Amino acid sequence: MRRFVSQNWAQAANPDLYLHDEGYYMIKFQTIEDLNAVYYSGPYSINNRPIILKPWTPEFDFNTEFPTEIPLWVKFPNLPMNCWSSNSLSRIASVIGTPIFADECTSKQTRISYARMLVEVNVTRELPEAITVLDPNGRQFTQEVIFDWKPEFCQLCQVVGHKCPPPPKAGTQNHAPQERRREPRKVTME
Ligand SMILES: [Zn+2]
Repeated sequence: MRRFVSQNWAQAANPDLYLHDEGYYMIKFQTIEDLNAVYYSGPYSINNRPIILKPWTPEFDFNTEFPTEIPLWVKFPNLPMNCWSSNSLSRIASVIGTPIFADECTSKQTRISYARMLVEVNVTRELPEAITVLDPNGRQFTQEVIFDWKPEFCQLCQVVGHKCPPPPKAGTQNHAPQERRREPRKVTME
């Protein structure tokens, strides 16, 4: 981890690293600018295993279970240009979770094939693949939602990190469709 930090987070000056418990690190940055530079340039992974970054808060409790509100990077491919204001982006992202930040290319609109945002998401809930957006002109469209990475959540064990196969249903011969497709969540622009 120490090597990863020095190799990948060179933009931050000598952050302090503390190993707390299995899988947890506390990283103390010298400045808030260093923290933001690292935080907003993610996501990161070590050996293809994602690193989940979460800003520390006084309420943070290592003893509670794995956090279920996790910041994830979300892409909105081919988002219409009239929905790119930070206000519109926040509204769209609010359908998925709590918007934190749009990446630099998105806020400066230097890359317009997709908008990308960091959104804190409750991973115990099913994450949408699309949302319905009503744009400022009253036009309704379906916006695709792509997560750079999302953690597995086991509905049986109620934990993040794995997924148990669903138990075989007793007494059912023909497979009724289990996962009914839900209506996309909806957002309205003003
Ligand atoms: Zn499980």
